[in-house]
Amino acid sequence: MIETCDTPGLLPIQSAISNMLKQIISVLESEHIELGESLGRVLAENVVSQINVPPNDNSAMDGYAVRYEDLIDNNQLKLVGTALAGTPFKNKVLAGQCIRIMTGAVIPQGTDSVVMQENTDIKSDVVVFKQIPECGNSVRRAGEDIQQGNVVVTKGTRLTPAYLALIASVGIVEVSVFRHIKVGLIATGDELTPPGQPLSDGAIYESNRYAISALLKTFPVVLFDFGIVKDNKEDLKAVFEQAGNHCDLVLSCGGVSVGDADYVKEILDDLGSISFWKVAIKPGKPFAFGQLGNAWFCGLPGNPVSSYVTFEQLVTPVLQKLSGQTYLPTPYFVAKAACLIKKRPGRTDYQRGIFYRDEHGKLWVKPNGKQGSGIMSSIAHANCYMVLEQNADDVQQGEAVNIQPF
Ligand code: AMP
Ligand code: MG
Repeated sequence: MIETCDTPGLLPIQSAISNMLKQIISVLESEHIELGESLGRVLAENVVSQINVPPNDNSAMDGYAVRYEDLIDNNQLKLVGTALAGTPFKNKVLAGQCIRIMTGAVIPQGTDSVVMQENTDIKSDVVVFKQIPECGNSVRRAGEDIQQGNVVVTKGTRLTPAYLALIASVGIVEVSVFRHIKVGLIATGDELTPPGQPLSDGAIYESNRYAISALLKTFPVVLFDFGIVKDNKEDLKAVFEQAGNHCDLVLSCGGVSVGDADYVKEILDDLGSISFWKVAIKPGKPFAFGQLGNAWFCGLPGNPVSSYVTFEQLVTPVLQKLSGQTYLPTPYFVAKAACLIKKRPGRTDYQRGIFYRDEHGKLWVKPNGKQGSGIMSSIAHANCYMVLEQNADDVQQGEAVNIQPF
């Protein structure tokens, strides 16, 4: 036990993540959809190419297609035709002949090399070669990118724009993807007022749902927004029950700590089960994970920065696993602390920072203003997390800091 730990009995963040990943079963249902509609979806089957890419040997240059052996002790060939991309030269090229060829055009039968235009002179129908290439020069081989039968993209891959192009390049227009995840979102708190309405005494504007719904847009999910629910056990229970019956995952924010109006844990004990509800993460210690009816449940803390950070660090792996995606931990970069960074041992700290390069190309990072868990501008104006190890204390100026750029 660490003497200086804020609160004993907290689950280290990596244990929390592996605990959740071990329990969650990915959705199995899949559907066939148009490739053009598949951005952001997760592949349910490997994509296998039925063709070679490129399909034929073709030219990487504008120039002349030649037989290499013709140029061993001769530098002039007779021009007998043209090969364009999409319009191949149909006949066989004979000894002493060459073909005008454009980039992407199929290498004519009988030729084996391409000499770039810049290394030639042309005199009526005779081409003079000023430089003799190696055999096979400037020829892109059939199948050099992808071979027939190759797996082009594996099951569990989240489709990016580049994957869409790769799949299109093998002629496939329909893909099998896992269905969307149904995610329910509930904000809790008597004080929460929707933006656009007047604020009564003691109230604040509800903002977490705006961040979380927007963050959810980067996943293959359908959002069920259950709005703001008052701190009233009956109302909360009814909404939680409905969400648990309709969704694959329910996210709530607020009411998850141990205050008098914090009912989330009690309701979960009635309607489901809680695996853990205290994680060694700062901000965000009260983070609950469990089951609610048919759904998985993540109870996020209400403080705006805490709910944002716990979403990114703890809910992201849950969404990846649920949606069938291969889990990819977020990579770190290393920067040097530009000043003293305050930290108490006990929890992994995700402070909001600004990283930059100095004139020597060195990477530095400094905290972005106040780090309180209610100070949303600390995230909005930052460009990275500074990830400070659970057991670490203050980071001195010049020491290495792991950062995760936003
Ligand atoms: P709680 O976790 O319910 O104790 O809330 C902690 C703090 O976060 C309180 O100051 C709440 O007013 C605030 N809070 C809770 N939910 C939200 C929300 N959805 N939007 C903005 N602030 C919130
Ligand atoms: Mg509350």
